[in-house]
Amino acid sequence: MKKRINLLLCFSTLLIAVSCGKKEGASAGIPDVGNPQPPVVVVPSPYKPNTTYYGANKYVTFKVGDANSPIILASPHDGTINPSSMPIRDHKDAVTVRDTYLTDLTEEISAALFTKTGVRPHVVFNDVARARMEPNRSLEEAYHKSEAANALWREYHAFLKGARDMVQANVGKGLFLDMHGHGHTKKRVEVGYTVSITNLNASDAVLNDKASTSSIFHLGKTSSYTFSQLIRGDYAFGTLLENEGVSAVPSKQDPRPNSDDYFNGGYCTATYGSRGGGEVSAIQLETHGTDFRMTAADRKVSGGKIADAIIKYMKAHYGLFLDK
Ligand SMILES: [Zn+2]
Repeated sequence: MKKRINLLLCFSTLLIAVSCGKKEGASAGIPDVGNPQPPVVVVPSPYKPNTTYYGANKYVTFKVGDANSPIILASPHDGTINPSSMPIRDHKDAVTVRDTYLTDLTEEISAALFTKTGVRPHVVFNDVARARMEPNRSLEEAYHKSEAANALWREYHAFLKGARDMVQANVGKGLFLDMHGHGHTKKRVEVGYTVSITNLNASDAVLNDKASTSSIFHLGKTSSYTFSQLIRGDYAFGTLLENEGVSAVPSKQDPRPNSDDYFNGGYCTATYGSRGGGEVSAIQLETHGTDFRMTAADRKVSGGKIADAIIKYMKAHYGLFLDK
């Protein structure tokens, strides 16, 4: 019981620290929407393997995988619930488009990974519309319109951090894949490591110096491959996707985004990867729609291919799943 009280105190302190972080917090300019503030949900930690946890109202979900899972999957932008307590984010810089069917695609990847490896990954997803709550920006740049949206954001991030901490503690290294969908012209997966487009377009010699800017910095420090090989060599994630028949950039087959539309990774990839330390790296996968995720049949096939690429990546760079 005493432990639980301590946990409550710690969490409350953390919340205060977060909300006081910048400019009196993002809540300073939020209009009163006439709704009572939701109770702070204290997320139980440590999480039990193979257990599903929900935030308040079941708006966010954490399906805890096996204790020995090195993989975390997340789908932040496919929510469809529109709570009246979270008004539409109408700031001019607020992106509100939904990543259609990404949660279903993420579930297909999770199921395929379990079938192929016997290990259930950790899965986190958000069911509230992006127009009302934005998990993939800092709280300051989410432009939420209510404290209820801020509270939901904190729950989502408590789950992601919980998953990352479990992998770090139980396995000592791992990979977080943040799943998204783009509407760009080229039908290919955009693999994001938070490396700038300028650096991705540069020579291998220039790129080799940029590992510290990436969400796979830990691999950059420990791998026998050069950093440019990790981005576009034989065992880069994009190359392994191409080998499964999925077009991907950057990869050996398609090494640079050049002047094409390309997403290099957002807030969650930057926050829960290894750019700031630790042994859990992160990759953002921005998937195309047509022929990839718009039908249930496509999602099953695509989910299996992504799972195969993940397994080959874990073998090549982590020494895990070697017998699969
Ligand atoms: Zn997205």
